[in-house]
Amino acid sequence: MICGEQPVIRLREPDRHLCAAHLIAEVEERAARTIRERELIKPHDRIAVAFSGGKDSTALLVILSRLLPSWEDVSLVAITVDEGIAGYRDDTIRAAEELTRKTGTEHVCVSFKDLVGADLDTLLVGRETQACSVCGILRRKALSVAAHNAGAIKIATGHNLDDEAQSVLMNTLRGDLPRLVRTSDADSSDCFIPRIKPLADISEKEIAAYLFVQDLFPFLPECPYTRYALRLEVRSMLSAMEQKHPGTMRNLIKSKRAIEKQVGRRVMSEPLRRCRQCGDPCSGELCQVCMLRASLGK
Ligand code: SF4
Ligand code: ZN
Repeated sequence: MICGEQPVIRLREPDRHLCAAHLIAEVEERAARTIRERELIKPHDRIAVAFSGGKDSTALLVILSRLLPSWEDVSLVAITVDEGIAGYRDDTIRAAEELTRKTGTEHVCVSFKDLVGADLDTLLVGRETQACSVCGILRRKALSVAAHNAGAIKIATGHNLDDEAQSVLMNTLRGDLPRLVRTSDADSSDCFIPRIKPLADISEKEIAAYLFVQDLFPFLPECPYTRYALRLEVRSMLSAMEQKHPGTMRNLIKSKRAIEKQVGRRVMSEPLRRCRQCGDPCSGELCQVCMLRASLGK
């Protein structure tokens, strides 16, 4: 315990109990340190915040809007992507609108329907098991287009420490070395606009507690396609490991950074190609979105 207040959370490494005020201060300071040390945000940047209305992006928007006054001429625009998932997105979009109003952040909504002419539910008929990969490809593209149209030069996402560790394990399980050495680098980008992850050093548990103690936790329905996600299995496996062996997630990320240092540049130095359909950067003839469009007949 740091002060005499009632503790709300126990954190490891180092082992300590924090009250609500100290937890809020620590989470915000750690995000600020990540931004500072990795030089994620510079004066005059216009940042698009990928804002789904879920807990991670809610914490991200709250933290960035609080840090904003200390930055020189930095502006934020929150972007919400409506995938078109019945019974799920409507509530989260309402929650997103409410928070952007509260924080006074400019807010833009874009939909898969605008992007490819159909919502996710329609695109997935008969291929539900591919939900998350189709959704991920289209969401990345929708975000890039919306961020570009809003004049943003970086996209901030709410990826936390658990997400980073899960991605390392998932990419390892898939044998995907290029993605393994690319995804956790804060400045990496698989599109025109670089992505930054200011919450990469904060755990899911800390983010949840940070929002709870401020009455900001969004209680929202779960995406109906979650059950098809490999991430779900990896998430419960890693949480169990972390519980039993504290530090597991950080160690996974550490291993990934070591691999990245050794081979990252070599893997990433393959010349960038342009999609012959839309001109976006890609590794083959067509980018993932155009391949998807072709397979969907869109
Ligand atoms: Fe998209 Fe899968 Fe997330 Fe649902 S669980 S929003 S389908 S990535
Ligand atoms: Zn393309």
